[in-house]
Amino acid sequence: MKTDMRQTEQAIYCIGCGQMLDEEHSMLHFRTGFYYGRIPLGACQPCIAAYTPLQMLWRAVMSETAYGYPN
Ligand SMILES: [Zn+2]
Repeated sequence: MKTDMRQTEQAIYCIGCGQMLDEEHSMLHFRTGFYYGRIPLGACQPCIAAYTPLQMLWRAVMSETAYGYPN
């Protein structure tokens, strides 16, 4: 038996501007938070540039995934 349900492109909710982003357009992707319980939270590049708290979150996420990052 084969399930042929294709997953549509994952949309991410930007917590900065409130837009839905394609995963490829999101700079930040929180794996712990969800909008409406199922839409992943994230942030786009302009919002990260505009909001200092997002920059700090982005740095935190980046340093978590990229070990040995000098800082
Ligand atoms: Zn945004």
